[in-house]
Amino acid sequence: MIEVVYRIGEGPQDADGRPETAEQARALLEQGNDALVALLAEPRSAAGSEPGAEGPARRVIEVGAGGFGLSSPAEGVLRHAPFAAVLGCADARVPIELILGRAFNDLFVLRVAGNVLAQEIIGSIDYAIGNLPSMRLAVVLGHTKCGAVTAAVQAYLDPAQYLGLSAEHQLRSIVDHLFPAVRLGHAALLEVAGADAATQPGFAGALVETSAVLNAAIQAASLRSELASYDVEVVQPVYAVYDLTSHRIGTPVVIDPAAPAARLADPPATAEGFASLARELAASSEVGALLAAG
Ligand SMILES: [Zn+2]
Repeated sequence: MIEVVYRIGEGPQDADGRPETAEQARALLEQGNDALVALLAEPRSAAGSEPGAEGPARRVIEVGAGGFGLSSPAEGVLRHAPFAAVLGCADARVPIELILGRAFNDLFVLRVAGNVLAQEIIGSIDYAIGNLPSMRLAVVLGHTKCGAVTAAVQAYLDPAQYLGLSAEHQLRSIVDHLFPAVRLGHAALLEVAGADAATQPGFAGALVETSAVLNAAIQAASLRSELASYDVEVVQPVYAVYDLTSHRIGTPVVIDPAAPAARLADPPATAEGFASLARELAASSEVGALLAAG
């Protein structure tokens, strides 16, 4: 048995102690995910479990009473002080705070099917960055086996299905947001695996996972453009994909050779950068295995 416990009362007593830089914020989120993966993989020796304790493996997330808003009335309402905005999918299998090992008031979470950058999402992040000086990072977090990406891939591969969405404006809006990633992934798979790759039984599945990574990167790059009026060195846009099986965040390929352990990646800055990323994904062993699997 495994327990993830929020222990309220100890630890930081208010929202102070936030990361000062985007790099520190990125490291905190990667470490939080590392701790969850370690807990699930080695339940008896995971970081955060109590030494020598009997019973279930446990990870304790300390939350100060003040950090939970239990300060005295004289101290007023808890100050809103998240250090990262996270745009994730609405999929119920992707609980953002748990995946990243963070507590209340740490993350400014937005969730929508396909983690696409709808206007209301942009407005919300714009508000956070413009009004919350604690903000350091803006994360787009896709995930494997995404239903929204799967729907977009099916609509792309079978235009008749897209026609069926013609009167479903809201649903079509999500699919339309996802099409650039699907188009890019489709072209890269055919380029890398050959023109007959589309006949392989695993093609649609490979395209779904390739597109999920590309979509997160594209949405993060779009966010960087939207944030151009802010200092993107202070609030950096990054992306990753959460693997429903391993519970790790990251991408199937090493995005930055200078920092191979980095799992929250900077999105490409150019069209050629995206094409290169798409080819690397299509040539990865993970996508190759999906193509062959069927
Ligand atoms: Zn999803």
